[in-house]
Amino acid sequence: MRAPRKEHELQAAQEHIALLLSAIDAAGDVILVYRVEPETGDLMLTYMNEAYTRQTGYTRDEAVGRTLEAFRLHMPDDPGMSHVRDAVLGGQPAQMEIVSYRKNGSSFWNQVTLHPIKSPDGTITHWISVERDVSEAVERESRLEDQQARLLMLTSAARRLFSALDPRALVLRLEDAVADLLGGTLTVYVMLPDGRGTPTRDLRAPAKPAAFGDALVERAARTRGHQSDQTGFRAAAGAGAAASARAPYVIEVHAGSGHTLRGSDLFVLDLLAEYFGVAVRNASLVAELEERRSAILELNQVKTDLIAMLAHDFKSPLTSIVGFTDLALELGDTNPDQREYLEAVKRLALRLADFASDTLAFSRLERNEIDLQLEPVDLSAMVREIAASLVDQRAISVDAPATAVVRGDAHRLHQVLYNVIENAIKYSPEDSPVSVTVKKSQDRIAVLVADRGIGIPRSEIAHIFGRFSRASNARKLQIGGTGFGLYLARQITELHGGAISVQSTEGKGSTFRVEIPVSSEAMRERPLSVAVLDSEREARSFAGHALREAGLRVHVAHAADELLSWLESNAVDRIVIDLDEVPLNEAQTASLQTARRRQGFTLIAVGAAQSDRFTDATHLSKPYLVQDLLSALGQA
Ligand code: ADP
Repeated sequence: MRAPRKEHELQAAQEHIALLLSAIDAAGDVILVYRVEPETGDLMLTYMNEAYTRQTGYTRDEAVGRTLEAFRLHMPDDPGMSHVRDAVLGGQPAQMEIVSYRKNGSSFWNQVTLHPIKSPDGTITHWISVERDVSEAVERESRLEDQQARLLMLTSAARRLFSALDPRALVLRLEDAVADLLGGTLTVYVMLPDGRGTPTRDLRAPAKPAAFGDALVERAARTRGHQSDQTGFRAAAGAGAAASARAPYVIEVHAGSGHTLRGSDLFVLDLLAEYFGVAVRNASLVAELEERRSAILELNQVKTDLIAMLAHDFKSPLTSIVGFTDLALELGDTNPDQREYLEAVKRLALRLADFASDTLAFSRLERNEIDLQLEPVDLSAMVREIAASLVDQRAISVDAPATAVVRGDAHRLHQVLYNVIENAIKYSPEDSPVSVTVKKSQDRIAVLVADRGIGIPRSEIAHIFGRFSRASNARKLQIGGTGFGLYLARQITELHGGAISVQSTEGKGSTFRVEIPVSSEAMRERPLSVAVLDSEREARSFAGHALREAGLRVHVAHAADELLSWLESNAVDRIVIDLDEVPLNEAQTASLQTARRRQGFTLIAVGAAQSDRFTDATHLSKPYLVQDLLSALGQA
């Protein structure tokens, strides 16, 4: 009974094994069994499934009985293979990706899972290796990584291109981008009216082009997207084209040695051309803005000069008119009508003269040229005097202490108070009351001017002290005015260290408050006077403009000799010299030092050049911000 049963069991077991083997053969993964050679420790292949033949080309006859080393074809170990050896030495299961070789010598990425088989005494007798060709996944991953790295580079190239506002810098940055992203070299062409392109390094066409592009470049200018030549080493794309027009620029790329430009490279080229076009437009807009800014500055200067000249030239004939009318009146040989006319002439001439003074003060303010002539000024007396002079226009009630003395510029303060009081009359109905109150406190004197006039619309109050600012209700009522009286008033009170403000309700009336400090300590000092030596002339000088904006009194010279001769008849507190742009020769240096000994000004040397010549100057390196310049001047 036992024997047949055993035989039966054996047969069943054999069938089971055959089944398992065919399952292993059918598996997609390679399954290998290596025996550990007791003598050498080499791994010798004792079993392989059919997947191994499909993967490597080795048949069972060729492979079984060979050692692992024999399959390596003497190729050097990659990191994965070192990992395999470590695992075998350490007797630990492991998984890694290694480069394996087919029978024909070609390689593939192999994911290997190693598992040791141990005998009952614990020695490793076999290794089972399950392997899978993962080349495709590995390649896909590395392509993705490449693409991601390229995208990052593209983003940073875009950022760098868009922030290059100078044409030369723009071309240089594009060169860098082409080197980084395409490993190639770049030529930028500017297209000429005849359709040919000439290389440019600053986006401009040279007057006499020394070289020209070729058919590829010309084709790229005419078409959208890149054009490449048959060799695959060279490609070009138009840049900066508006709509369907011909591109004004072409960027041409030569691939680095040994590689051709592939599809993804050409895609990158198209993007770079696109970015470049936008960056070129940015740069040209910036240049245009810069040009306009200079033109405006220049115009502004001309305007201020013209206003000053006109106002000045206006004043002297007006003074003569007033003088002659006075004379005519004094002669007394006039009838009442003639007297009335002469008085009208005098009044109007005086008004014009006031207007000219305001204008002159305004233009001086613009150039920071107002210097206060300080003396004790009694504001109570001043207010009474103004009220008296306006008595034929309005009876003004004055409530003021006997004296209220400040230290200030009498002429300028008169201008302020007169303007505010005259406005109270102008912007209120005839016969409505205007009152002026002078209040004394310990350190300030306040003059309040109240009317019951048209008031100022709430939303416009904040702007009423602005240059040429007029309220809408005043305009609507066609009350004449220029809108710079209050602007001037604010500048003058602030120069005195004081303040001007208003409380107003439209339709009800306004109260203006002018506050002036009693002592001169709080008073703004005379603005610092600075001479700037800059290669740019007056209107284009950045330093000159910035300092003037900061409230300093500035003179710009654009040549050293010009500055030196100006210094002979003018005093300054500081001199700023850009030594990189306007280097001084020895004679000029000596004259400057002489002027400095005489006047005691501080020298600010900008840039790196000649710094050894002016060791006792304050040094400012480039580029600098306005704030840096001001702190070098001690004004921050
Ligand atoms: P102007 O009177 O020549 O227009 P100002 O600079 O003196 O210029 O005043 C600016 C504007 O402020 C005026 O145009 C007017 O709209 C408003 N304003 C000034 N004073 C008064 C006032 N007392 N009442 C109402 N509005 C005033």
